[in-house]
Amino acid sequence: MTRQPPSSPTAPLSGEPLALELVNTTYIDGGLRGHRVDALTTTDQLTAWVTEHAGQFSGELPAVLAEQACTPRTHEQFLSLREALRSCLHSVAEDSVPSGDSLAAINEFSRYSASRLEISPGKPVVVTRRWQVDDPWLIALGEVASDACRLLMPDRIGQVRACPAPGCILFFVKSHPRREWCSPVCGNRARVARHARAGRPTSETA
Ligand SMILES: [Zn+2]
Repeated sequence: MTRQPPSSPTAPLSGEPLALELVNTTYIDGGLRGHRVDALTTTDQLTAWVTEHAGQFSGELPAVLAEQACTPRTHEQFLSLREALRSCLHSVAEDSVPSGDSLAAINEFSRYSASRLEISPGKPVVVTRRWQVDDPWLIALGEVASDACRLLMPDRIGQVRACPAPGCILFFVKSHPRREWCSPVCGNRARVARHARAGRPTSETA
């Protein structure tokens, strides 16, 4: 897949469902002794993130988003959703019950994704999607929250993973049976750590 060149910190993982992509905008740079990076500290970074993920929102939405600036309030709401999603996914990955607060936040935001289709006269007729809220940024927020809900439905929840590599905090969908890590870099890091614990040479890169 083609990606735009990174203009701000870019998460080391891409191609995951929208909800995981949002959660993965906080990550550890440099493994176990690395530091936590937040790639969404400003409204500009959030705007860039939404643009980068335009293909994962409803077809009509990105064009409308581009016409309206992201406000500090919207930015705050995206960060709240991200925190709730991280907490919820963490619980799910550990097979425990997510906190009521995290679920309430996700459900609150998910409401903004509600829409209906309407037909207008014409030859042929025109079908338009109408959302229940006007602010396209709230709709985008809602679409990320509802993406999380879809991800946690019975057919997909079993594939949601927290990367088990030391020092990694990313989530991914186990897209093929042999995928154990978010990325080959993490797989390699975990193997090196395992060899170090076993007192063997750590130069293995396979
Ligand atoms: Zn990882």
